Amino acid sequence: MTNARPITDHSRLSINTATTRAQWTLSQAIDGYARAGVGGISPWRDQIAEMGLANAAKAIRDANLTVTGVCRGGMFPWVDEVGRLAMLDDNRRAIEEAATLNAQCLVLVVGGLPEGSKDLAGAHAMVEEAINTLLPEARAAGVKMAIEPLHPMYAADRACVNTMRHALDICERAGEGIGVAVDVYHVWWDTELLNQIKRAGKDQLLAFHVCDWLVPTRDLLMDRGMMGDGIIDIPLLRGWVEDAGYDGFHEVEIFSELDWWKRDPEEVVSICKERSLSVV
Ligand code: ZN
Repeated sequence: MTNARPITDHSRLSINTATTRAQWTLSQAIDGYARAGVGGISPWRDQIAEMGLANAAKAIRDANLTVTGVCRGGMFPWVDEVGRLAMLDDNRRAIEEAATLNAQCLVLVVGGLPEGSKDLAGAHAMVEEAINTLLPEARAAGVKMAIEPLHPMYAADRACVNTMRHALDICERAGEGIGVAVDVYHVWWDTELLNQIKRAGKDQLLAFHVCDWLVPTRDLLMDRGMMGDGIIDIPLLRGWVEDAGYDGFHEVEIFSELDWWKRDPEEVVSICKERSLSVV
């Protein structure tokens, strides 16, 4: 049993701009989401760069959208010292962008194995070292960092942190100012999920991302489903995070080269709204 609140409007619906990235620029997404009465947006950094940070910040403010996250910081493990310094630089810019956009968190996709490496433990250590270096700077900028554990199929090339337990262990060692982004696509299968959500609690549950797991999944990266089209019990998971104290947005994040990126973006947004009332 859970206490998931019924969703009756779109004030807590956020859309991650990945969902319409094939059709809309950031500027068009800001207009389109606001026009649809969606409450939040989560922009990607390449789109922020394209629009210009100051322009993006102003347009989002004018549209009265809450920035539920900036995607993304991370990609921490490095091959050599030049790579390490470039990685830190890039993450410092990400922190600055998140601060300027008044984002609720900077989402961290922590990175996989450095090129040519088989040293998984070494990659884990690099992730923690980078977080320890950057966290004081994020705190000073007023930016919360959110580790997003990714499904283990991405361990080699995107994120070597794949469970809530591992992410929260890192948060515990790192201290204040860092938590997790819970994305149902990445964690729905985890037998420890409920307990780890409880462990995180309100302070460390910084974002809740929704989409669905399709059966079959035709592409490891670009075939996420619309909520309701797959096998994830999203209301159950939303109930778990809300029971643990999370009272933020549900952010729709769908990478879908095979389906949703081919559709009219107005239709995509309108279906996100419908499904968020009926199956989130
Ligand atoms: Zn996500």
